Amino acid sequence: MKQESQTYTEVYEDGAARLSEAGIEEAGLDARLLLEFVCGTDRNTLLAHGDRPVTAEEHERYETLLTARAAHTPLQHLTGEQDFMGLTFLVNKNVLVPRQDTEILVEETLKNLHDGMRILDLCTGSGCILLSLLQYSNECVGVGVDLSAQALAVAKENYERLQRERPEMAALFLEGDLFEALDRRTAVECDETDSMGERYDIIVSNPPYIETEVIGTLLPEVREHEPVMALDGGADGLSFYRRIVQGAGEHLKRGGMLFFEIGCEQAESVCEIMERAGFQEIEVVKDFAGLDRVVYGTWLEQQGGSYV
Ligand code: GLN
Repeated sequence: MKQESQTYTEVYEDGAARLSEAGIEEAGLDARLLLEFVCGTDRNTLLAHGDRPVTAEEHERYETLLTARAAHTPLQHLTGEQDFMGLTFLVNKNVLVPRQDTEILVEETLKNLHDGMRILDLCTGSGCILLSLLQYSNECVGVGVDLSAQALAVAKENYERLQRERPEMAALFLEGDLFEALDRRTAVECDETDSMGERYDIIVSNPPYIETEVIGTLLPEVREHEPVMALDGGADGLSFYRRIVQGAGEHLKRGGMLFFEIGCEQAESVCEIMERAGFQEIEVVKDFAGLDRVVYGTWLEQQGGSYV
């Protein structure tokens, strides 16, 4: 291919056209972001330096990425990162790509998060929720739990990157099935970050909440490339809410709060599950599209028991 002579703008326009033909929704945006990723440029380059040449090597790498994107590989799997809450998180196929909707969950939690609190994040994935909460608070301690060791590897890498800038950040990532990860810890795994059996001020979770049958109807980027275990919420999409609510009372301090991201049609069911377990002051928060996105409530019982 004789592509050496093409300018930055020409290469971008070809790329946008290719993605558009492939039915990629935000073809222009993705074509630009991939070109910037390959060339180490930014948005200004297209605006102000569009006549800049693209080297043969850059062009070749760009073509490879375009081919993958045209086949619906998520953009973030190609660049390896996604911005969330003003921070850059590493991602790969083992974690759900952080969604903008989930920033609502973080923002609502932050409104109730005070310095020095203990936070538990269940189904932590890339760690983006827990690490954002720690980034924007002081002296809090965070524990992130996930069933997937591969996901935790990503979370730990994200933690190390943020910790380089903020050495006082304190998080612990544990592998296991929800609260079971906490309960079966050995003394060795408990360091000064988190001592065994201590209760939390905040439990936060964006659990898998898609109904099993619906997964096949999601965008190919999601259904073919993102981890099914991060999406599948069981037959009615609510199985993780039930299990988390059931165990939350035993792990929350009196006055502690539970925050969930939910699917936009799940508010009523999740509120009911929380109410029946004894949570109070339950609230629903909408996202920027006006859809129900977050449910939270407070645990005012003296002792957590097993409810359901
Ligand atoms: N919001 C995600 C999606 O629509 C699902 C997130 C989840 O299951 N927690 O793909």
